[in-house]
Amino acid sequence: MVEKSNECQHHWVIDSPNGPVSVGVCKNCGKHGEFRNSIQSSGWDRDSSQAKRARQNAR
Ligand SMILES: [Zn+2]
Repeated sequence: MVEKSNECQHHWVIDSPNGPVSVGVCKNCGKHGEFRNSIQSSGWDRDSSQAKRARQNAR
């Protein structure tokens, strides 16, 4: 007996990133998954740092 389906070496095809999270689909089994984009440079990171400042001021 050969059970291929149980051990899928997911081959993720990930959408082009348009936010902190990208959606990927496994080419082999069609499974969907979410992938965090590790972007540490400027961008939306600025917003979060601003939010942190606001929080600090509030406390
Ligand atoms: Zn898979």
